[in-house]
Amino acid sequence: MEKRYYQQEVETMSREEMKKLQEERFLKQVKHVYENVPYYRKLMNDKGLTLDSISSLDDIAKLPFLTKSDLRDQYPYGLLATDLKNCVRIQSTSGTTGRRVVAFYTQEDIDIWEECCARAIVAAGGTNQDVCHVCYGYGLFTGGPGLNGGSHKVGCLTLPMSSGNTERQIQFMMDLQSTILCCTPSYAAYIGETLKEKGYGPQDNSLKAGIFGAEPWTEEMRRDIEQTLGIKAYDIYGLTETSGPGVSFECEEQTGMHINEDHFYAEIIDPETGEVLPEGEKGELVFTSLTKEAFPLIRYRTRDICVLSRKKCSCGRTLIKMSKPMGRSDDMLIIRGVNVFPSQIETVLLNEGYTPNYQIEVNRVNNTDTLDINVELNPEEYKEANSVLEIHEKKLASAIKTMLGISPRVHLVAPKTIVRSEGKAVRVIDHRKLHD
Ligand code: ADP
Ligand code: ZN
Repeated sequence: MEKRYYQQEVETMSREEMKKLQEERFLKQVKHVYENVPYYRKLMNDKGLTLDSISSLDDIAKLPFLTKSDLRDQYPYGLLATDLKNCVRIQSTSGTTGRRVVAFYTQEDIDIWEECCARAIVAAGGTNQDVCHVCYGYGLFTGGPGLNGGSHKVGCLTLPMSSGNTERQIQFMMDLQSTILCCTPSYAAYIGETLKEKGYGPQDNSLKAGIFGAEPWTEEMRRDIEQTLGIKAYDIYGLTETSGPGVSFECEEQTGMHINEDHFYAEIIDPETGEVLPEGEKGELVFTSLTKEAFPLIRYRTRDICVLSRKKCSCGRTLIKMSKPMGRSDDMLIIRGVNVFPSQIETVLLNEGYTPNYQIEVNRVNNTDTLDINVELNPEEYKEANSVLEIHEKKLASAIKTMLGISPRVHLVAPKTIVRSEGKAVRVIDHRKLHD
């Protein structure tokens, strides 16, 4: 297959050159925030650091971390590093885990963000011949605007659908022969399910690729979506705090996402101690934005748990790769003392042949945590007699117990009873009220 890149020079840059570029940008960035953000200056001074303490990329380890609570405390303007008159845009997190965070962009920040998304689209096979169907949400959420901008840069015919109204999505997809679909994986699964119900097989649409991200999804879910839609499904990762989608993206090898290292410097730390871990170890991902002007974050703790790898990639890109985040540290449920990620449950469900429509309910009854998993059946399966359902529930509960080490109660429920998501799926309802 012909190799395609959007910005070949940086995407295939040698390690030494990349390190040099990162160091140059890093030193400039530290100076920028130290001089323009009193909050940063104070954080550094509190650790006994001044600009003179930082003279190479290795000195990054001396710098303090920044957390989501710093961002919340400094809401809205506390971390702004440039005059407001230079800012042209605000976006905001989806607020999955609490109070929203707002991020600011200069025009240069927007251009770079869109270029990062363009790299992802080209890596998924996108060219100016493609019809790029964007049904991530538009508005404050970064998904729609990011991919929309990337699609323009590549020169695709861009369909700014936004999320929702699945009937209309399908109508446009068929009429305009969309070739690339961009949305959350859970919405892609829903679109696939709806197409199937309408009697469309994988060969009946013009889609060739999907660029799915903004929430955790498993390899099993990938296979499921690829089969239903007849496409190759690529992962894309990002967070509002660092710009939005396009911080990293998957290539055709589909073994992790290349981080746009010329703009984002990645570290993996032990989430308990803050110690930087060597390449290949699992831990919390920390990003430093090397080029952002308006809202640069230094050593921002993402709370996403993954592994970094410099293993050579067959696509020719030299950009470091991150594994699929298995969920954020705050998605992790502690049930009867056992750490549980919803993605582990999803793996078992899809391996056992169930749909990706499920919801996890956690509660505490008589001081004991309970784990209930509602799994939707497809209409044929649901026709089976109740006694058979019970056997299936037991079998699935036992497979999940093998994965987690704790026993859930599994409920196989009627088709269409679990709410479909048009954006990020709500997989967990925790009734325990362990937090304020
Ligand atoms: P919120 O924190 O409110 O959801 P964002 O919309 O900025 O705000 O979401 C960023 C988060 O979404 C990331 O930190 C990560 O946890 C999750 N995420 C984004 N892309 C992916 C992906 N491809 N795989 C897994 N998780 C992802
Ligand atoms: Zn690659």
